[in-house]
Amino acid sequence: MIYFDNASTTQISGRALKVYNEISKTCFYNSSSLHKGGVLAKTKLEKARQDILNCINGQVGDRLIFCSGATEANNMALFGLTRKNQSILVSVGEHPSVYNTAMSLLQRGNEVDFVKLNSEGTVDIDDFTQKICNKKYDLVSIMLTNNETGAINDIRSLCEIAKRANPQCVFHSDCVQAFCKIDVLVDNLGIDSISLSAHKINGPKGIGALYVKKRVGFNPIVYGGGQENNLRSGTENLPAICAFAEAAIEKCEVLKSNFENAARIRETILRRFDDKGFEYEVNGSKRGSPYVLSISLDGVKGEVLVHKLEMDDIYIGTGSACSSKSSDNRILSAMSKEKGKILGNIRLSFSANNTIDEAEIVAEKIIQYATELRNL
Ligand code: PMP
Repeated sequence: MIYFDNASTTQISGRALKVYNEISKTCFYNSSSLHKGGVLAKTKLEKARQDILNCINGQVGDRLIFCSGATEANNMALFGLTRKNQSILVSVGEHPSVYNTAMSLLQRGNEVDFVKLNSEGTVDIDDFTQKICNKKYDLVSIMLTNNETGAINDIRSLCEIAKRANPQCVFHSDCVQAFCKIDVLVDNLGIDSISLSAHKINGPKGIGALYVKKRVGFNPIVYGGGQENNLRSGTENLPAICAFAEAAIEKCEVLKSNFENAARIRETILRRFDDKGFEYEVNGSKRGSPYVLSISLDGVKGEVLVHKLEMDDIYIGTGSACSSKSSDNRILSAMSKEKGKILGNIRLSFSANNTIDEAEIVAEKIIQYATELRNL
């Protein structure tokens, strides 16, 4: 099997799985319990929190709130960092967990504006600057790496622009597809809040976190027993949290070599296409993440190609798995791609487990099947 759908989810790593199993067996206690078992669980919970904060250069007093994944983290950010009547700016390129939450805030009565994308899939800086200068936004939410195209936004500059216009503005960034792939250092980016998910970095599914910088006001959206320092109630999923931390440590240690490996894989595929005179169009920028390769093939339906490849045990995606059921593609449309290019879109996404040999096999198969489909 060749798995090139790592932006939708990854296989749990051996190290993360070992930690998950060990904690499930030997430290199954509730971290809120007063007995020795509970204290041990609490110690492990706080160590995992600190390990992840270290990966993002979190400072003393910053908060990392564990939750069920980045969908919840993004909901917590948009609802928890704003109040009624506040104004919000998000990009049209956001993941549904930000975009649809912004829509829901709009229904709640918040003022919500959407900033455009340029043809490379990053935020249109002129539109962003114009909007920021025309209105005082209380919250801005712009993702770091786009899950469909790999386009990387210059969050540091966008944050500077936003804070220059309104120093009180809170800047949130969905960093799910960037974390452990490129540096996500909160102090360097200058932002107030980020969302993370474990299953994109070879950790377990159903666990994620919202980072919130110290002194940034945050209201919980999940109420109950007051876990996570009263910021997100519910018994902490300790095995998953510790496995998440293990996966993050593992990935951060080899971030640079993994990045180079992904870049080689991406280049190998594109070179093979070019050598064979195969026609394709890359969606996204050349300076984007090497972990994602989004291409459009004229005269081919992306979905058909996905199913042809699956017969050879090759797994790829079309756009994002979260929006693959909707026929319209919001991101590619925002990049002004024509309908044919949207229909002919496929997404290959890589992990450290992938090899150059796999890249060559997949490129050949894509050329073969796309040519067959074009000749039909
Ligand atoms: N944001 C981005 C950019 C994503 O790619 C995803 C996962 N598709 C999410 C948020 C949601 O993460 P989770 O699956 O942990 O809810």
